[in-house]
Amino acid sequence: MMRKIETNTAVQRKREIEDPQKRHSRHEAMEAVQMLDKLKYDFPHSLESMKYFYDLYERVYCKGEKIHSDKPLVGTLCIQVPYEIIYAMDAVPVRLCNGFHTDEQLGGEFMPTKSCSLVKATLGMLQSRDIPAADKLDIIVHPTTCDQKTKAISIIEDMSYDMYHMEFPRVKESEESREYWRRTVRKFTKDISKELGRKVSRRSLKEAIRKVGRAQMAYHKLNELRRVTPSPILGKDMFLITNAFFFDEIERWTEAVENVYEEVKKRVQSGFNAAGKRSPRILYTGSPPIFPNLKLPVMIEEADGIIVADESCSANRLLNDMVSVDEWFMYDMVDAIADRYLKGCTCPIFTKNEDRKRRLRELIEEYCVDGVVYQSFAGCQVYEMEQRSIMQEMEKINIPMLYVETDYSPGQGGQLSTRVEAFIESLKVRRRKR
Ligand code: SF4
Ligand code: SF4
Repeated sequence: MMRKIETNTAVQRKREIEDPQKRHSRHEAMEAVQMLDKLKYDFPHSLESMKYFYDLYERVYCKGEKIHSDKPLVGTLCIQVPYEIIYAMDAVPVRLCNGFHTDEQLGGEFMPTKSCSLVKATLGMLQSRDIPAADKLDIIVHPTTCDQKTKAISIIEDMSYDMYHMEFPRVKESEESREYWRRTVRKFTKDISKELGRKVSRRSLKEAIRKVGRAQMAYHKLNELRRVTPSPILGKDMFLITNAFFFDEIERWTEAVENVYEEVKKRVQSGFNAAGKRSPRILYTGSPPIFPNLKLPVMIEEADGIIVADESCSANRLLNDMVSVDEWFMYDMVDAIADRYLKGCTCPIFTKNEDRKRRLRELIEEYCVDGVVYQSFAGCQVYEMEQRSIMQEMEKINIPMLYVETDYSPGQGGQLSTRVEAFIESLKVRRRKR
């Protein structure tokens, strides 16, 4: 009789132990809710049209809704994967760069402690098989951009995902690398089409270029409004909007951005100021803020700065450059797509990065920037190394820059916010003296 009672209790206990998958999803949902609440309620004068994005994140990250199920899903590990070609196959690209601390901890088992949080979090997400908005991935495409991602590939393959490698050049300026990348993109078009059993036609490619171009135009129009002083929209909203491009249905995303544009335009007409009276205008650059790790942008704006521009692959760089086609023939279009991705890339993975400096100077002038915040994820050598030359460039044009090394851990908060607050204060003092 006694033995029977013990067995029942053991069974009972077993039932009470939470399934690891469920625990993982619950922790992620908690992280997502915390950040969403911050974005929604900690800042006054929320935009009505941002509701679409808050709801979208809630559905996908808190309720686990899978919004793509009827088409092949192509996971992408960097913005260098040409979206136009994936759309031309009537497939859906889902960017797998990830911002969850829960996933970073899980992925930390596969990589050295001091490695990029983004890459660790992506590995953790793939290991848990909890991909936002997607129920399964048909293939994952990896361009050989940064070393950490490249070395993570064999780990992902060991997790039994189908992978496709795209060879990406690390010298940007030469004609050879341009031709090399064009060849890679042509091969990608053929191989993926075979892999997914879907043809790319001249018509479907033209239509895909138009579809992505329309999304970019919607973003550009909205982004242009941030040049105005006072600035009508906070940077935290812009990051949320652009991060949704990672996984949302592209046409719905475009319409939602157009709605935000209409509302923000009205704000501009009425002289509305989304920030404080003397808020310094900030340009954000460096490792990409990815939901829910928006802690640095939020900190900047909580400290009374306003992010008016950014140079990051989770926002501006993601949507900045458009495909420019001379002739609407198949190979001309594929080459034009290849050029768009190589020319537009200002990630520090290249040998030299004069283009990134040029882009930053341009943004500083066009968006009347007072100071730059440069984030590097701890362990990301390329961003860490490039900050020196960017700092020197900023000194030449007399623009103060704050360099911040972060990861996804929530514990860093206090120390970091003190540095950010001090930087914003120093910019205000500079402004007063002008
Ligand atoms: S930081 Fe560079 S390598 Fe990493 S995802 Fe962005 S563009 Fe790609
Ligand atoms: S932050 Fe650095 S290490 Fe991480 S993905 Fe980007 S380039 Fe690679």
